[in-house]
Order: sequence, then structure tokens, then C-alpha cells
Amino acid sequence: MRPILLLIAFLLTAGPTLAQPSAAPAPVALLLRPAAVFDGETLHPGWAVLTEGDKIKAVGPAAQLTAPAGARVLELPGLTLLPGLIEGHSHLLLHPYNETPWNDQVLLESQALRVARATAHARATLAAGFTTARDLGSEGAGYADVGLKQAIEQGLIPGPRLLVATRALVATGSYGPKLSADVDVLQGAQEADGVDGLLRAVREQIGKGADIIKVYADYRWGPNEPSRPTFSQDELNLIVQTARNAGRPVVAHASTPEGMRRATLAGVQTIEHGDGGTLEVFKLMKQRGVALCPTVAAGDAIAQYRGWQKGTGAEPDRIQQKRLSMKAALQSGVELAIGGDVGVFTHGDNLREAELLVREYGLTRLQVLRGLTSTNARLFQLPDRGQLKPGLLADLVAVSGDPTQDISALRQVKLVVKGGVVVDK
Ligand SMILES: [Zn+2]
Repeated sequence: MRPILLLIAFLLTAGPTLAQPSAAPAPVALLLRPAAVFDGETLHPGWAVLTEGDKIKAVGPAAQLTAPAGARVLELPGLTLLPGLIEGHSHLLLHPYNETPWNDQVLLESQALRVARATAHARATLAAGFTTARDLGSEGAGYADVGLKQAIEQGLIPGPRLLVATRALVATGSYGPKLSADVDVLQGAQEADGVDGLLRAVREQIGKGADIIKVYADYRWGPNEPSRPTFSQDELNLIVQTARNAGRPVVAHASTPEGMRRATLAGVQTIEHGDGGTLEVFKLMKQRGVALCPTVAAGDAIAQYRGWQKGTGAEPDRIQQKRLSMKAALQSGVELAIGGDVGVFTHGDNLREAELLVREYGLTRLQVLRGLTSTNARLFQLPDRGQLKPGLLADLVAVSGDPTQDISALRQVKLVVKGGVVVDK
């Protein structure tokens, strides 16, 4: 065979994606002996965890676990060991809006600059103990999230395991940035409408690496008006059906009762924000098995960027509205995913969402701890993580103190293990 034919034959047998060498170190067995283990459900004082390769080998009372030959023993006195935390809503390609407004990030920052920043954001996220993140939209940075995920998987840069939504879908004319009617500018998401347009856009995003399809079920059509529904019921149904055929869930940005209702009936996995949610629509979500990711930290941050001095004077309408809708959400019993929309605020400060939910929105510490671990894993259909059980991924975080007593103990990260490898911080 001539060399060129040999090459073609090799490429055909190798398939469309060639395996990349991994720069990540190979894991050695670890025996971790903390003061207590939170296994994703409950706290177990005096327990230990043994890892082998990239998986958990055993979990139980420390006296019953012995280190095999060649294992590294990590004594962690005073620390609580938990499953690696799961961020439910991030944008690694954004940085806080009080540093640079969203419009300027989308229009003025080059993709290279945004990706370079995102590598630092990924590192900060992992260092904060978040070993998985749902990254819900590149906001004008195209498919850069797919490349970022690959760089992390190949061990080139540190970061969490990512589920990426790529460009996200918006109805034509509904999103931004909006300048004058005379110029078409780069949009923060992909515009697509109707049967042909949406079929093509969903399949294109999946083909280019989307793990999740994100859709904006409502938005502000103009800068100074309230959100209104964007896609029709038929369009949302088509998006969910097309994604489902490819084994991808759909998540919906929605804050109006009608946008939330349509997304729920279409069968999305989660609704993001839900600020205007009513008891009725939350009950419908519960009935249909759709979870709410309330992102309270994003609204809290934006209100402060707009001048709200927290703790003084009357709360902005938006915050009062959020408190009412969260009360209705809790009353309805809808499942809650935990995710802060981090990127609106600083990456690495992911814990703001958990702290606000406990201190200001009435969730219990245990509810939030389960939320960040086992509940998020279950809602996002990630059965290989979120709990400390034999056979699951060895993604672990050790923190000072007891987060079942003080949620902010989760900020005191002393050790992060991802895939059985201690993360260099
Ligand atoms: Zn978001």
C-alpha cells in the first residue's frame, strides 16, 4: 500500500476523533482519614475513605479500612471529607459584571482573552472544591467551552469536570447585545426559530460537543421591559425531543410563569432562575419532575452592582420578588438544584449560593450539602458521582470544621482530590 493509502486506512480505523495523550498523573491509592465523612447524605464521624485508581474503593469506620501496599495515607485531623462539590450553573467564559458589563464582554473582548481568563476561572473553581460544573452557555464565545473541557480532560489545565451547553438557543431578536436597529452584532447565544431552524441548531450544537441544550424560554425583548415568553410551546417541544433523541437534557432559562410553564410541559430537566415563579407553576414542575435551579446569588450580586447597599434601607423589588417566589417554591416541594450563575460574580466564590440559601432563603444546611453533592448528581443524571460509595469517582474535598453545623466551613478547603489524584493548589 502506498503511504497515503496507509494513512487513510489508519484514519478510517482510528475513527473521527483521535485519542489525545493525557498529561494528567496516574493516581496512586489513597487512604484518607478525616475527623468525619459526609457521604452525600449524612455525616459519619470517625469514618475513612480508600481510593484506588480514579474510583472510590471503600468507605466506612476508619478502624475497618487498612491501606494496601503502596497506598498513600493522608491524616486529616479536624477535617470533614465530602464528595467533590457540583456547581449547578456556571459561565466560565464570563467574569463579574461590575468588572466589565456583559455587553462589553461579548462585543469587545476577544475569544482568546476570554479563554485565557476561563482557564483561571476553571482553576479557581476546582480549588474551591467544585470538581464538576454545569457550564450553561458560552455567552458569545462560540464553542470555546468545548475546547476548555477538552483541555481539562487532557490534563493540560486544572479544572472541574464540565458539562457544557455551548452557544445556547434564543428566539431571533430576543437576546442581546442590542445596539442600533441598523447593525447586526454578535449575539450572546444562537438565534434559531421554527422547525427547520431549531432542528438544525440543536443538532449542530450537539455535533460540536454540547452535553446540554440550553434554551431561553423567556427574555426581555427590549432593555426596559419585563421578560416575556420567547419560544412557542411547539418550538420548545421540538427542542426537547430533538435533544432527547441524542441523549441530551435541555435546561431552560425562565423567569415568567408562562415561560416556566411551557418549558415544564416540554420536559426540560431544570429551570434556571424562576424569579417570577408562582405556587401553581412550581407545583406543575414538581408534578412533572422538573427541578428549579434558583441562582439566588446572581440576583443578589446584580442588585448590589446597581447600588443596593445590602442590609440598609428597603430591598430592591427584584430581591423582594425573589424572596416571595422562593417561599412558594419551598412550599410546593419542587426539587432544587444548587447553582449560583457564577461568572456574574467571582469564580471560586461559588459558595455564595449555598450561604444565601441557608441564611436568607430558609433551606437547611443538610438540604444544601445534599444539594451540592448527591441531589445535583441525581438531578443532572450523573450516577458516577455526588456520593462517597465504592465504585464512584474518587472526587473528594476536605474542609476545616463541620459544614453540617456551619455551611461556611465549605470555604475552608484544605484538600481537593479529582479522579483519585490530589489537586495541586
Ligand atoms: Zn446563567
